[in-house]
Amino acid sequence: MFNLVLFGPPGAGKGTQSEKLINKYGFVHISTGDLFRAHINDETTLGKRVKELISAGHLVPDEITIAMLEGEIDKKPDAKGFIFDGFPRTVIQAEALDIFLKNMGENINAVIALDVDQDELTRRISERQKISGRADDAADKLIKRIDEYFTKTIHVLPYYADQEKLTKVNGIGEIDHIFNEVCEVIDRKL
Ligand code: AMP
Repeated sequence: MFNLVLFGPPGAGKGTQSEKLINKYGFVHISTGDLFRAHINDETTLGKRVKELISAGHLVPDEITIAMLEGEIDKKPDAKGFIFDGFPRTVIQAEALDIFLKNMGENINAVIALDVDQDELTRRISERQKISGRADDAADKLIKRIDEYFTKTIHVLPYYADQEKLTKVNGIGEIDHIFNEVCEVIDRKL
């Protein structure tokens, strides 16, 4: 099994690169943001609990997010690998994922962080909002999301660097060029 964490701030290109990775490697893609949006759309109990938090740009509490993620992994016993997109976003989530995988006899094989500066992120997300209509892409909510990233999520990087699993890839430039660099990292570790 090959387990990849695709890491980066909102707008770094995690979703775009994930789509290409699914096609190339056939890994199961788990995006916690997509899962939450589906729950909100379907008006599930979980969706109702998290809707306000997400539209305000806050992180969902760890215990809710971790339980949802573990449930998704359990649904795919035949997966040959997972791409974790938007998870972990806190060190507590990263630790929980390590323990969960360890109990399955697995681990995280690589962490790829897409590096994009703040001006470019803001520009990309305001473009995306015109198409996505996502409430949390609006300018005032985006400030909160970027703030959550730089106060809570950034600490996940040293967590994986200490485990010697982290590779940074420049997330600015041609999508295919970035994809090639991402694939090189994976292929080295496969
Ligand atoms: P994303 O599509 O990954 O940008 O996620 C959209 C929103 O869902 C985030 O701004 C958070 O409110 C919530 N969310 C997604 N993943 C997580 C996570 N791992 N931990 C906490 N909240 C999350």
